[in-house]
Amino acid sequence: MLLGSIEAGGTKFVCAVGNENYQVKDTITFPTTTPEETLQKTADYFKQFTVDAISVASFGPLEIRQTSPKYGYITTTPKKGWQDTDFIGFLKKQVNVPMFFTTDVNGSAYGEYVMSLLSNEDLDSLVYYTIGTGVGGGAIINGKLVGALGHPEMGHVLLKRHPDDLDFAGVCPYHKDCLEGLVSGPTFEARLHQAGQNVPLTDPVWDIMSYYVAQAALQVTLILRPDKIIFGGGVTSEKFLQKVRRDFAKMLNGYVDIPDLTKYIVMPAIANNGSATVGNFALAKRLLKE
Ligand code: ZN
Repeated sequence: MLLGSIEAGGTKFVCAVGNENYQVKDTITFPTTTPEETLQKTADYFKQFTVDAISVASFGPLEIRQTSPKYGYITTTPKKGWQDTDFIGFLKKQVNVPMFFTTDVNGSAYGEYVMSLLSNEDLDSLVYYTIGTGVGGGAIINGKLVGALGHPEMGHVLLKRHPDDLDFAGVCPYHKDCLEGLVSGPTFEARLHQAGQNVPLTDPVWDIMSYYVAQAALQVTLILRPDKIIFGGGVTSEKFLQKVRRDFAKMLNGYVDIPDLTKYIVMPAIANNGSATVGNFALAKRLLKE
């Protein structure tokens, strides 16, 4: 069995082929440019192999309802040039195999879920957030991806503002100061006029960030009561999560039981942002079994 993975990010695409044991056999990375150029490169890559099925984990928002005429589209994305892009339709014309279509964070959530099963972790639910160029979240409950009318948009929830951050407007083009508008990578440029990777963890802005990320963890804890909350993406680090755990504990204030915080709020188990690739292989394999 040969399975295909497309991790479609706002800055780069990672395509891979692998086997049913989720081992990568070949992979390619290229920058995200126009939809035509990027999707053509993607199709050309998969034409070299005889894949049985492909799973796509893409930046969104996406139309994932099979009953919709716009199924397989990237819809109202803020990413320039990519609004209303028929992602699956474009690929299917050139590589006609079964395709699964979901968000980048759902793909990552599924990868982390599959990994937890393989490592015999006793777990049937989790939430995966990415904090990078944008912020998104996906949830798995009893082994199933959550979302009926569409996929969750956990990056756009509204939060209580940090008292030292009240004059920052936020960067979300739709809501200004939603979670994404307050903690995504571009907020470093907007607040401090420098890139996030140059801002040391001693800078007070990280306490503002952790105040917001802890609220997201609190909300999802209270709404879904998952076994575990994973934070991936370029902005996240283990040292940052230590701050998030501290703020989360204060906010939860012992209200409900949760596991040991170092096991509950965690970095991805799969290193180097590889969660989505594993998730895609598993989702493509699942598609073939259905
Ligand atoms: Zn928003």
